[in-house]
Amino acid sequence: MNIEKSKNLFEEAQKFIPGGVNSPVRAFKSVGGDPLFITKGFGSKMIDADGNEYIDYIGSWGPHLFGHNPSFIKEALLKQIENGVSFGAPTEIEIRMAEIITELVPSVEMVRMVNSGTEATMSAIRAARGYTGNEKFIKFEGCYHGHADYFLIKAGSGALTLGVPTSPGVTKGNAADTLMADFNDINSVKKLITENRNEIAAIILEPIAGNMGVIPATKEFLTELRDICDSEGIVLIFDEVMTGFRVARGGAQEVLGIKPDLSTFGKIIGGGLPVGAFGGKKEIMEKIAPVGPIYQAGTLSGNPLAMAAGYAALNEIKNNENLYKTLEEKSSYLEDGMKENLNKLGKNFYLTRVGSMSCMFFTEDEVTDFTSAVKSDTKLYGRYFNEMLKQGVYLAPAQFEAMFISTAHTKEDLNQTIEAHYKSLKSLL
Ligand SMILES: *Cc1c(COP(=O)(O)O)cnc(C)c1O
Repeated sequence: MNIEKSKNLFEEAQKFIPGGVNSPVRAFKSVGGDPLFITKGFGSKMIDADGNEYIDYIGSWGPHLFGHNPSFIKEALLKQIENGVSFGAPTEIEIRMAEIITELVPSVEMVRMVNSGTEATMSAIRAARGYTGNEKFIKFEGCYHGHADYFLIKAGSGALTLGVPTSPGVTKGNAADTLMADFNDINSVKKLITENRNEIAAIILEPIAGNMGVIPATKEFLTELRDICDSEGIVLIFDEVMTGFRVARGGAQEVLGIKPDLSTFGKIIGGGLPVGAFGGKKEIMEKIAPVGPIYQAGTLSGNPLAMAAGYAALNEIKNNENLYKTLEEKSSYLEDGMKENLNKLGKNFYLTRVGSMSCMFFTEDEVTDFTSAVKSDTKLYGRYFNEMLKQGVYLAPAQFEAMFISTAHTKEDLNQTIEAHYKSLKSLL
């Protein structure tokens, strides 16, 4: 595989951009090798600067439910461009966008648009704090909620119950307000609540975790979280930036049958443009400025171009009756093929999947939380990733990411992927 041009571009990029990338995981650090510079995406495929073609399973890290550049999103964008790309004043499409979100996700009575998933979770935490008057919140080890200071915290080791920053630049003060619990472990939550009674504003989690591989929360766990939040007056926030409109029309909350107080969205909701949203109970959302005192704003929030793309995506999601059935069929076909390969190779790597998001952990043990996820052999994943890439399959350049299937993936793509999966593993094991 010739990646000469990508290599040169990467070298040049590093002169002007830290590490050559605008988001760290793109640099391929955890898998080794040089990142590919992409020039074009269409359907299930991406083409790099040297003209190599790949079947893409990243889908821009989640947004591309319909593959790259579907005609209905492209047309919506072109139409809006004719009329101007930003006004900083209300537009009708913002109402349509809010309307369709509240329709698809019934727990969301009111919603505000922002520009990224990070902004959505950040604002949701502020809303919960402003609403309850409490400052602390509970987050789970291994769940990712974007890069706001108070999310970049991990559990302290051993007897240390206080969280510690995972990045320089995050203050101890921030860490002190973030309480760390274990995913799928209700006792770890109960313990924190007992120790911090009447001080907790929110519990935030990915109801189907997609940032430590793919790990669904159990229904019992979520039911207990819901009960605890009700009895303690804590705001339950589902971070559905990845799972929203991905695992079902109504997101993970529809699949698992639990209603949060607030939800956050991103990725699919922007149809490939930079968009996020947070919303939920009217009672909480009406505490936000300008109706209420909780400040939240954005120069480009609800941007017409972003709304045009996002609305086109959500409208397709609403009206395409076979969408989730099609995604399930494609995804289970791929899963079956991969399982058959593992059988043939006598390997029992732990495979998880919810609809069109899945993950093969390089461990044979069951994975239910962060501790069990990090048992994966990440070095082996790196070699597997590079083998797959050589065979034209572009996976996430890190073990603890989801593999996304879109409606654009054809049977031929899936068969080619299953074959590459077999060959890659066989060459490594
Ligand atoms: C991607 C992601 C975010 C952050 O979104 P950005 O748009 O990258 O800021 C937050 N939460 C979850 C669950 C995500 O997957």
